[in-house]
Order: sequence, then C-alpha cells, then structure tokens
Amino acid sequence: MAQLGSEQNPLRVAIVGSGPSGFYAAEALIKSDIDIKVDMLERLPSPYGLVRSGVAPDHPKLKQAILLYDKIAQSPEFNLIANITVGKDISVDELRDSHHAIIFTCGAESDRRLGIPGEDLAGSYTATEFVAWYNGHPDYRDRQFDLSNEVAVIIGQGNVAADVARILSKTVDELKHTDIAEHALDVLAESKIKDIYVIGRRGPAQAKFTPKELREFGELEHCDAVVDSTELELNKASHIELEEKSNIGSKKIYDLFQKYSSRAISGPASSRKARRCHFQFLRSPVELLGDSKLERVRIEHNQLSGDPFKQSARGSGKFYELETGILFRSIGYRGIPMQGVPFHDGWGVFPNDDGRITENDEIVPQFYTAGWIKRGPSGIIGTNRACSVATVNSLLADLDTLDSGDQKAGAETLYSLLDSRNVRYINYQEWKSIDATEVERGQAKGKPREKITYVKEMLELLN
Ligand SMILES: Cc1cc2nc3c(=O)[nH]c(=O)nc-3n(C[C@H](O)[C@H](O)[C@H](O)COP(=O)(O)OP(=O)(O)OC[C@H]3O[C@@H](n4cnc5c(N)ncnc54)[C@H](O)[C@@H]3O)c2cc1C
Repeated sequence: MAQLGSEQNPLRVAIVGSGPSGFYAAEALIKSDIDIKVDMLERLPSPYGLVRSGVAPDHPKLKQAILLYDKIAQSPEFNLIANITVGKDISVDELRDSHHAIIFTCGAESDRRLGIPGEDLAGSYTATEFVAWYNGHPDYRDRQFDLSNEVAVIIGQGNVAADVARILSKTVDELKHTDIAEHALDVLAESKIKDIYVIGRRGPAQAKFTPKELREFGELEHCDAVVDSTELELNKASHIELEEKSNIGSKKIYDLFQKYSSRAISGPASSRKARRCHFQFLRSPVELLGDSKLERVRIEHNQLSGDPFKQSARGSGKFYELETGILFRSIGYRGIPMQGVPFHDGWGVFPNDDGRITENDEIVPQFYTAGWIKRGPSGIIGTNRACSVATVNSLLADLDTLDSGDQKAGAETLYSLLDSRNVRYINYQEWKSIDATEVERGQAKGKPREKITYVKEMLELLN
C-alpha cells in the first residue's frame, strides 16, 4: 500500500459545513505538502454558511470573503457535495469509512434561551430566525414577522443585536439595493416600527458592539440614536475598565454613547427623524406578558457588582413594564448536537483538544473540529482562519495514526450511498449556475443578487 498522503494514496478529508471555518480548513489542507483530497459536505444547496445567511445585507464588503472561498473551491483537490445533511442523508460512521479524517465545521445553528416565562409567546423571536429570514435562508423562508407595532425590543448588545436594530431602523430605500431577500423587503416596507429599544444586561462600559457597528447608528438617514445621559453614569469598577489601554474598543463604544446622549432630539417633532433607536443598560427582561401574543415586557433594573472585568449584573428589585408587540432575543448562538459526535451540552460545542474531538477527555480517532462549533460563537470571519489552521496542524501531525492500512474511496463511496437513497446532491459547478441566476435576477433590480430562497426552486433550476 502506497504511503498515506502520496499521489497513489491521498489523504481523504471530509469537511462538514461550508462556512468560513470549512473553507479555511480546506485551504490549509490544500496548501500542505502532502497529497490531499477534500470533500466538503453542506446541508444547503448554497455554500458559505453565515457569510451568505448571517452577515447583514447592507455590509457587502464583508461578503467579499466569498471571493477567496470561490478560489479555494476551484482547486483540483476540492470537491463540494451540497444539499446533503450529515447525520441524516449520510451518517458520521459512513464518513469514517469513506474518509481518513473528518473536520466538523458545522457552526452554531441554535440560540441560547432567556429562560423566562412567556419566552415562546407569539411576537417573541430569536435574532437568528429574523436574520436568517431577511437573508433568504430556505429554512426560514416562510416565517412571519408582525411589524405592525410601533415599539420593538431587542435583548442583547452584541453585533447581531446591532444588525437587527439597523435593519429595523432603515427604510426600504436604504435597503433595496442590497442583497436582502425580496420577501423580507416587502414586509419591511410595511413596517410601522418607530421606537427600537436595544437593551443590555450590564452597563454601557460592557456593551459588546464593535465601534464600527455602533457608529453606523449615528449616520442613519431616518433614525436617531438615543441614549439618556443618566444611563451613562459609571461605577468605580467600570471607570477602571475604561481606563485600561487594552480595552480601547469599549472606551470608543462609551464615547459614542456619550455623543448620542448629547444630541438633542427634544426639538420640534418636525425636526426629528421618523424612527428612534434607544440604547438602554442595566436591565433584564424577567417576563413576557400577553394573552395569546406578546403585549408587554416586564423588565428589572440591574446593578453591577464584582471586580473590574468580572462584573456581573444582579436584579435590583425595581421593575417596570414596556408595551411592545415584538421582541428579538439576541443573547448568543450555540451549536447543536450531531448523532455520533460527542457534544458538550453546557457550552454548546464539540469538545476538543486543539481541534481533536474528545470524549471524556480521550481523543476520538479521525474526528476534528474548527470554527464556531469548536470554540463557540465568537470572533469575526477572519478569526476562523487561525482556528482552522490550528485544527489542520493537529490533523496533519496525526497522519500516522490516520493510516488505517486501507485505501479510502472518499466521494465515490458517498455518491453511491446518496444515489441509493435518491438524494439529489449538488456540486460546485451546479452551485455556480444557481449563483449566476441569482446575480442576473438581482441586476434587473439594481441589487448584487436576488437570492433564491426555496430549495425546490434551486433544484428545479438545475433539473
Ligand atoms: C447574524 C450574524 C452576523 C454576522 N456578521 C458578521 C460580520 O459582519 N463580520 C464578521 O466578520 N463576522 C460576522 N459574523 C460572524 C461570522 O459569520 C462567523 O464567525 C462565521 O460564519 C463562523 O463560521 P463557521 O464556519 O464556524 O460557521 P457557519 O458560517 O455557521 O457555517 C456552518 C455551515 O455548516 C452547515 N451545516 C450545519 N450542519 C450541517 C450538517 N449536519 N451537515 C452539513 N452541513 C451542515 C451550515 O449550513 C453552514 O453552511 C456574523 C454572525 C452572525 C450570526
């Protein structure tokens, strides 16, 4: 048997998920100095994970990462098998038989819950479903969002909360030349929302926005950013946090809040913009109230306690109610389990040691992980590159142990299994033809693309 990693016996790696971490893992494998074949498996017909279905439509520059992924996908060592769900259409045991190693890069597709009464009332949504809906993710295509209320509440103060607030704050004219899905634009056009409350558990010094995202609220054409100056009083520990040089991002955020608080919005109504985005701190929702749907949120004021950088929020016993018909929970993503792969329920990740998946602290042979499912939902697109490179380094260091002595057939094995199950898989060239149709349909409307949002329609196009 030829040596593993040679031309006669290439290392066959299956990558599960086609988001940034999957593509960066493929890139690192292809750049290595051994012979490799990479099969990337994706459950949707379209690749690129959250770059397509998470990153906001009005942030097109960030989607340019796709240009690099496209280049990687053109490599002869690369093969995409899309429209198949690992764990359903193909089992992880089957992947183990077909490939020497599997890298799971399947992201964090679920949300953390608030754990309060009324959380599942109609009108209470996760940011995940709203974001996926306006970005045309097929799973969320037919969700309904009732934007007929004047007040919307967003719980959480990270960049995803900022994206949701900004999309609600913008007018259709500001969004119509982006790649926002058409069905979402139609609903947003009828939005009656005037006041958006973005509520954080901790103080203005602990908000998790990045300065760039927060700065955009000061530049919106039809929406004022509103911060009450009394909300910006800091305790001693928060002062210390903002003075710390390495915490410059939080200082910039705080300065922006100060700038927004000093802007007068109390002039005549005619001088005010149509919408207002209110940033509020030290509050937690404790109950969502309403008969059959959300009508009010009961909110408790919080106090901070603890040392600088370790402060936690605790309820103060002072409550009030805010009338609203729509609320978005944006308090963090978490991974979901996959049959046959160890899962850390507390952290919502695949437990691992430097990218090698572990079970009860023992390394599970052949299983690796990268991206959000490896380390949790943190960092920007680029953060996944170093994460995937580290995992690939672990994998390549294990080359001897990955050599089972058998030649693996890789994609050929998977194709025969999928054919026997009548599963219609899609290769990269087929995706490119869907992509071309989307771009063409977008051009007619002055948009970068008009996304096709039903899987059935994508398949019909190919057939
Ligand atoms: C709303 C939102 C906005 C964001 N905006 C920005 C931004 O502006 N700038 C920035 O730098 N970062 C942004 N990020 C962060 C960035 O998107 C992530 O860092 C990155 O997408 C994580 O990459 P990943 O590959 O780990 O996961 P993902 O991008 O989630 O990719 C996972 C892929 O795995 C697939 N998959 C899942 N399960 C299976 C299965 N069983 N079988 C086959 N395939 C499967 C999924 O369909 C998906 O394609 C944003 C994130 C979110 C949620």
